[in-house]
Amino acid sequence: MSEPRTVLVTGGNRGIGRTIAEEFIAQGDRVAVTSRNGEAPEGALAVSADVTDTESVDRAFSEIEEKLGPVEVVIANAGITADNLLMRMKDEEFESVLDTNLTGSFRTVKRAITGMIRAKSGRIVFISSVSGLYGVPGQANYSASKAGLVGLARSITRELGSRGITANVVAPGFIRTDMTDELSEKQQNEYLSTIPAKRFAEPAEVAKVVRWVASDEAAYISGAVIPVDGGLGMGH
Ligand code: NDP
Repeated sequence: MSEPRTVLVTGGNRGIGRTIAEEFIAQGDRVAVTSRNGEAPEGALAVSADVTDTESVDRAFSEIEEKLGPVEVVIANAGITADNLLMRMKDEEFESVLDTNLTGSFRTVKRAITGMIRAKSGRIVFISSVSGLYGVPGQANYSASKAGLVGLARSITRELGSRGITANVVAPGFIRTDMTDELSEKQQNEYLSTIPAKRFAEPAEVAKVVRWVASDEAAYISGAVIPVDGGLGMGH
């Protein structure tokens, strides 16, 4: 097993982010979790931070660096939806989703790379979505934000690939969380009929892929988009 590292998971107080944090904790890493409400799973350092606020992100990093050391692995997971059909979508709905999902990820990794460049190593993983590659009606804002993460990861790869830093995208499909549990049985069946695997995934199935792509074993994977979607987005 490799040496413990300092890992930051944004939006790690619940859902997929929480499971990702638990996965790194289980392998012995020092894990910090940020969210607006500042909760965290047992074994993680809980830090309040809003990814839409650059100063808040900066303060969170300073606290993590002081308590756990420089951040070596960043999982940009914090994300929101505000679904609406394009013709009804308000500027605010578009901008708030972009600001959290895409600009929030930019703010996080921009703050992280100073330490990574100094260390000549680092792992950045963006949590995108099949929606960003495949497109989903009613999610023009969300899909645009999630597709933007691919460009972000690939530019980082070209800019910082020679510094031992990798940047990858994990694109989950339908994951069993509070969000999918809220769908009616009819809606669930409609979605299921489009997924080759004919099931939703558990959050741990995403978390294990994220853990691996951030590991030493994946040192030569960068700028990649790794789907965890049961085949739903194949080829996109
Ligand atoms: P949840 O809604 O359960 O969790 C979202 C997380 O993001 C929470 O921890 C929330 O914490 C945090 N967050 C939201 N806004 C901010 C903010 N401004 N600053 C800091 N943290 C914030 O979502 P999921 O676990 O379902 O999703 C996690 C990621 O996976 C998201 O990026 C999502 O788009 C993506 N995804 C999810 C899929 C699914 O099926 N569930 C499928 C594909 C992708 P708090 O509100 O306390 O700040």
